[in-house]
Amino acid sequence: MSEIVFKIDIPSDDDGFVTLQCSFCNSKFKLTTADFQSDDVIYIFCPYCGLQNEGNELLTDEVLEQVHTIAQNYMNSRVNQFMDGLEKSLRGNKHISFERGKKLGMEDDKVLFEREEMEIVQPTCCKRPVKTKPLEASLGIYCPFCGVK
Ligand SMILES: [Zn+2]
Ligand SMILES: [Zn+2]
Repeated sequence: MSEIVFKIDIPSDDDGFVTLQCSFCNSKFKLTTADFQSDDVIYIFCPYCGLQNEGNELLTDEVLEQVHTIAQNYMNSRVNQFMDGLEKSLRGNKHISFERGKKLGMEDDKVLFEREEMEIVQPTCCKRPVKTKPLEASLGIYCPFCGVK
C-alpha cells in the first residue's frame, strides 16, 4: 500500500489570514498563512486563554469536516473502481454471475469560509499580526507567538 496524501487548502481571507480554533476554549482567531506555516512557529498560544496549542490542534471543526469528506469520497471512488473492474472481468463468465449494487455517491465538498468579524491586533513583542474578536482585541490578548499578555 502506498501512502495517500490528502491536500487540504485552508482558505485565507482577503487579508491573507487563516482561521484557527483553540482546542482548549474553542474560540476562533486568525493568523497570517505565512506566520502559521513558518518553521520557527511550533506552538501557538491562544490569544484568549493563553494556552499552548500545536499547529495541527488548531484546525477548525469546518476544516476537520472537510478532511473527513475528502477521505470518504476517496474511499467511495476506490470501491466504485474496484466494482467496475470486477464487473468487467466477470462479464461473460459462465460460472459466476455478478450483479453490482448501486454506486456509492460522493459528498459535496463544502466551501470553507469564515465570516466572523475580527480585528487585527499587532502585539509589540513579536510584531506578527493576529485577528481576534473586537472585544478581546480591546481588552488585551496573549501574543500567539510568545504567550505574553
Ligand atoms: Zn483558548
Ligand atoms: Zn510575542
